Amino acid sequence: MTGRVTTEEARALWLEAPDDELRRLAQAARARFHEPDHATYMVMRIVNYTNVCVAQCDYCAFYVLPNQDGGYVLSQRDVFAKIDELLEIGGDLVAFNGGFNPRLPLDFYCDLFAAVRQRYGDRVEFYALTVAEFVFLADRAKLSHAEAAARLRDAGVHWVTGGGSEILTEDFRKRHAKFKYTVREYLEAQRAIVESGMRTTATMVIGFDETLDERLEHLQRTRDFQDGCLRDGYDGLFSFLCWTYKPYGTAFGGREIAPQEYWRHIALSRIFLDNVRHVRTSVLTQNEDAFRALEYGADDFDLPIEDEVTQKAGATIDLDLEGLLAVPRRLGYTVSYRRAERPAALTA
Ligand code: SF4
Repeated sequence: MTGRVTTEEARALWLEAPDDELRRLAQAARARFHEPDHATYMVMRIVNYTNVCVAQCDYCAFYVLPNQDGGYVLSQRDVFAKIDELLEIGGDLVAFNGGFNPRLPLDFYCDLFAAVRQRYGDRVEFYALTVAEFVFLADRAKLSHAEAAARLRDAGVHWVTGGGSEILTEDFRKRHAKFKYTVREYLEAQRAIVESGMRTTATMVIGFDETLDERLEHLQRTRDFQDGCLRDGYDGLFSFLCWTYKPYGTAFGGREIAPQEYWRHIALSRIFLDNVRHVRTSVLTQNEDAFRALEYGADDFDLPIEDEVTQKAGATIDLDLEGLLAVPRRLGYTVSYRRAERPAALTA
């Protein structure tokens, strides 16, 4: 196969290519950016600062509505304690992720992020929000995406990641998360984040009821978005991370997909997303099976120590980090720690 893979070619690969062939093509695509036998990782913690949410996605087991019991908002002291624990075990990346809590205005977030930056400086990097949360907050504050991005950047934020995208088709949004955002809003917001100088990433979640066409549309939108960024002189997407839906305790229910389907999808993503440098595999949802994805084109992974959102839906977290790192080593990879980069446009 030469040149850029079309959607039709990707469909044929998915339907017809045996595992060996997909793996070989993905490894060739990976080798354009990375040493074949080397992978990088980070130790991180997802801090779920509030579980109150009005979006009501039917695949979510985490949220409570504003008038229900069990809602919480973490104080800055709670957040600092979680970050201190992360530092103690050698991690340095925090990803803030929470519900669409209508009682928390944009100022709440700017104050929190400024306090984290002031207390930890560059000892800790943090993914401040997902694009999905960003869309909600900008809307509530009646600010344009550019204005909201500038507020966050000025509060010390470097990264707003592409979380909350799941499957980026309008039909999927209507079926499962009609109050969350439209695909157009999501991509416009992400572009504003890029233009503000902050960095972002792409994500995808598979294993709901999405069709092959929907998976391919998601990949096409991601590649198009990155083409646009690169064409206009921006670095755009740092990475693409895919994880799998956990159905336990959700309204939608369903079953988990098999690891092999996940590996094949990682391979297809690596082959198709020829303009994204890092393809990341999800230890959070695949545990030790995640490392086989390194053979299918992934080059990077997180070792998370907490994420209430996926844990509530059935994810399990292994805190034996050395034991986990032994798995890719047994597969023949050297692994090295990767620190989150401060975006070039925000260099102090
Ligand atoms: S996935 Fe996120 S936005 Fe959707 S209901 Fe859960 S917390 Fe809210």
